[in-house]
Amino acid sequence: MKGYIHSYETFGTKDGPGIRFVVFMQGCPLRCLYCHNPDTWKKEEAKFIKTPEEVFQEFDKVKNFVRGGITVSGGEPLLQAEFVLELFKICKENGVHTAIDTSGVYLNDKVKELLSYTDLVLLDIKQIDADKYKELTRVSLEPTLKFMDYLSSVNKAVWLRYVLVPDYTDDEKDLTEWAKYVSRFNNVERVDILPFHQMAIHKWEKLDKDYKLKDILPPTQEQIEKASAIFKSFGLKV
Ligand code: SF4
Repeated sequence: MKGYIHSYETFGTKDGPGIRFVVFMQGCPLRCLYCHNPDTWKKEEAKFIKTPEEVFQEFDKVKNFVRGGITVSGGEPLLQAEFVLELFKICKENGVHTAIDTSGVYLNDKVKELLSYTDLVLLDIKQIDADKYKELTRVSLEPTLKFMDYLSSVNKAVWLRYVLVPDYTDDEKDLTEWAKYVSRFNNVERVDILPFHQMAIHKWEKLDKDYKLKDILPPTQEQIEKASAIFKSFGLKV
């Protein structure tokens, strides 16, 4: 079995605990308006096609300074759950910490088995308003909420991520509803607010795609602090 891979990062500091080896999988069913990696959308455009053993060997080369573990991101890693499962089995045989960064769009038996080999889930709940979620991602919010319910039922450690985009995800009511919703789960260890930025604009232009957020400015420090205060007011660790 082979995985379709976009790229690797050998010194990831924002994708789980410690310094990590990050594998960016190719292929994603979402079409987030703010996507930083639109070049990962089409699976067939993978730069690397590798076996789980080959990917683990890449990690092995740098393991002396990448002590945090492996994070599989994307794209959407659950699209290739079978491949990630085999990779994580090897990780567990070698005592390596495992994390996935996902939108939680799929939940099936293979994904559940994968989660049993996953130490930490970095879950993006990108909006709590179902209509705005659809506008932002082109897919429905419901699967992600079901995914979160499942993670809670198996008491899986979760770090939630929230991309703060002015005019799209920074409405006070939405932030409050989001915090109210996620604060009911005991398995949420922390929340990371990721401020929207324009660094992906050249990728959209290169792919000749219509980038609707080209006039949106990054959130100000004040806007970030406001979102943070709302989340903290619900007892979330931000
Ligand atoms: S889930 Fe991630 S990779 Fe997929 S479209 Fe959204 S931001 Fe891009």
